[in-house]
Amino acid sequence: MSESEAPEMPAPIIPRGATRQVAEGVHVIPDHRIPLVPNVGLVEGPEGVLVVYTAMGPANGERVLAELRELTDQPRVLVTLTHFHPEHGFGAQVLRPVGTLVYNRAQALELADKGEEYVAMFRTFGPGVAGQLEGVELVAPDLVYDGRATVDLGGGLLAELIEHGPAHTRGDQVIFLPREGVLFTGDLVENRLLPIVPPDGDVRASRWIEVLEELERLAPAVVVPGHGEPAGTELIAEARDYLVGVRARVGELRADGADDAALRAALEQELTAQYVDWGSHEWIVPAIDAFLGELDVPAVG
Ligand SMILES: [Zn+2]
Repeated sequence: MSESEAPEMPAPIIPRGATRQVAEGVHVIPDHRIPLVPNVGLVEGPEGVLVVYTAMGPANGERVLAELRELTDQPRVLVTLTHFHPEHGFGAQVLRPVGTLVYNRAQALELADKGEEYVAMFRTFGPGVAGQLEGVELVAPDLVYDGRATVDLGGGLLAELIEHGPAHTRGDQVIFLPREGVLFTGDLVENRLLPIVPPDGDVRASRWIEVLEELERLAPAVVVPGHGEPAGTELIAEARDYLVGVRARVGELRADGADDAALRAALEQELTAQYVDWGSHEWIVPAIDAFLGELDVPAVG
């Protein structure tokens, strides 16, 4: 991951005092486009509050908790994540004493399987990141569900936790608030950042495209991406268009007889030019490779 090579990467610290409402009862601590900071959600109903993400490390967990307590003293706190990645959920140890952690089973298993390995990898991303991981403890969820779970926050405010993996990870989940029309997508969707393709071999690129089609059918009014500013459903379409485009070009270049290295080089150049205004170009080649990997595997079902 080339974040580690960026010389002046800012420390991944959750902004304080920037929390804003995106729909009634739905607040976001914005990431301010700081790498490895997610858009944290604080969803408040009369009978409970749902926290989406703890951010990375105990100090960030404390910041999330402080923002929550400035918003509400609601005693019933539920915490969920869209997927196990460190910048989304490795501050959970701070939220656990005050809340109930609810993850889907695939995500909980993936955290158990890869959590320590990801801490070790992220510690190589420079002192700013390593500092936030000081004292990190990985904690398992209190409640686990399969497929879909509804969290009732009272007053008609329902949060649907919907499992959609494997795509970006094995255990992807979105959080959809049907009445408010708000969708928290995690890293299935970003704003002007190319899709992150983790190097652990578990990305399912074509399934990811199908997931995005499923998310578009939810027709959310507000999409809160994993990273980048909240916006509308166009964010889902943009992510889908990118992945569909990469898949199509991989197929075309392969049909023209390009070998992997030539294909990778040509398509990286094309996509870099096409997405010049977007960030995280380091994920172009991993996306190409994810689709190349699919070409080498016989289709199933
Ligand atoms: Zn992620």
